[in-house]
Amino acid sequence: MEEIFIMRWIVLLLLPCICSCQEKVDLIIRNGKILDGTGNSWYYGDIAINNGKIIGIGKPDLSGKREIDAAGLVVAPGFIDVHTHIEGDELVNPQASNFIYDGVTSVITGNCGASRVDLKKYFYTLDSLKVSVNVGSLIGHNNVRKAVMGSANRLPTTDEMRKMDSIVDRAMKDGAVGLSTGLIYIPGTYTKTDEIVQLAKAAAKYNGLYASHMRNEGDSVHFAIDEAIEIARQARLPVEISHFKVSGQQNWGRSKETLAMVEKARTDGLDVTIDQYPYTASSTSLSTLLPEWVLADGQDSINARLRNPQIRKAVKQNMLKSLKKRGLTHFDYAMVAYYTFDTTLNGLSIEAVNKIKGRSHDADAEAETIMEMMEKGGAGMVFHGMSEDDVKFIMKYPFNMFASDASIRIFNQGAPHPRGYGTNARVLGKYVREEKVITLEEAIRRMTSLPAQKFKLKERGLLKEGYAADIVVFDEKTVTDRSTFDKPHQYSTGFKYVLVNGSLTVDGGQHTGIRSGKVLYGPGYPL
Ligand SMILES: [Zn+2]
Repeated sequence: MEEIFIMRWIVLLLLPCICSCQEKVDLIIRNGKILDGTGNSWYYGDIAINNGKIIGIGKPDLSGKREIDAAGLVVAPGFIDVHTHIEGDELVNPQASNFIYDGVTSVITGNCGASRVDLKKYFYTLDSLKVSVNVGSLIGHNNVRKAVMGSANRLPTTDEMRKMDSIVDRAMKDGAVGLSTGLIYIPGTYTKTDEIVQLAKAAAKYNGLYASHMRNEGDSVHFAIDEAIEIARQARLPVEISHFKVSGQQNWGRSKETLAMVEKARTDGLDVTIDQYPYTASSTSLSTLLPEWVLADGQDSINARLRNPQIRKAVKQNMLKSLKKRGLTHFDYAMVAYYTFDTTLNGLSIEAVNKIKGRSHDADAEAETIMEMMEKGGAGMVFHGMSEDDVKFIMKYPFNMFASDASIRIFNQGAPHPRGYGTNARVLGKYVREEKVITLEEAIRRMTSLPAQKFKLKERGLLKEGYAADIVVFDEKTVTDRSTFDKPHQYSTGFKYVLVNGSLTVDGGQHTGIRSGKVLYGPGYPL
């Protein structure tokens, strides 16, 4: 009698388990080559996904409502792009197709000192609109400074400093992952190191990091690295040096020296890492060709200065000197990406624009053309100024992650840098498969767990039970970046499936239109 009683209880206890074991989970990816993001070797296995999370890896004894056969394909964590500029793009193209087709499932925006100032409002907008990728943000120093003191070329007063400090403090509580600077831009370029240290301390208080678009990436790059490291030392926080490079033909080969500085800081115990886009051209504003003192206080002030013949002459001399330093005789390395005033010039070099305008074929006239474009509101540019050897040398550095420095692209608009479409596929195709600069395991680690660890993105960046199901399934033999400088508007190919928080955002190589991205809150956000 007693035995039957006990048996009944055992059956009752087992019943819920038996039922749940028979229930189908949302999705199972079978037979893939699992690369888990740690940098370890791949292994064959299945991955079970339910309610947006990974619930089993290996050979889980489960069946899925949908099952994907990933035989012959790599299954890896979704890529995390820590250096983007997507503010405002959520309104125009929330499907973020350029990122999704390149395997990116999470982005960090607000880089180079440029972010929304009110992050609470920004995150609310992202949350209500929904984008296809997860989004975290830095708080950008340039916008913080502009909000308090415009683009004035001077030091802040004590009161202004206090105001900036409280904006950064607020942003960290609202979920920023850290502070970013853009020290070649206005007004960042007018800032002294102390100001950044103080604001970085506000970020450090909440365990945030400092992401630096440094003061210089060319002739004075070593001073700029010193400054970034010094800020990390004084404010006691991790630093990420953004889009690490050596610019200008005269500086080619200096990546050995600059990486040694990073390594030295790490040996001294400072948490310094870097990121890179895998191209030999950069992309930024036309204004960076002009000396910073001419750019203060907004467009009207710039135009007023450039109308003064003496100032105009001095600006031109400055530009010609920089060109000569590069060992160049024309501004043919500078290509127009977006010129709002005249979009027919997009895709042309300054040398070509100058020719179209019927001016004499010399650098002097080209400098005039640049100033004229600046007077008409400026332009976004692509600058061909790095060496392939430096790009590869930096690529081999183990604490370097890959990041696009891009916006969400609008198909066929302008002639933007191809990095927005092809950064990850280019690393996997050109640099891993074809040129064997780094291994596949290493590339995946740098696209996933390294950025997740550095930017403190919880439960992302690895294929692990309990982690968010941000997953890419791709063909290592065919993955290719299609976007080029001549024809930039081409998506990467080779990604068969992309999951964001468990939702199939790419299915059979096609964007499904699903927008399941979440806001990635920083460490100061009270959960
Ligand atoms: Zn930048």
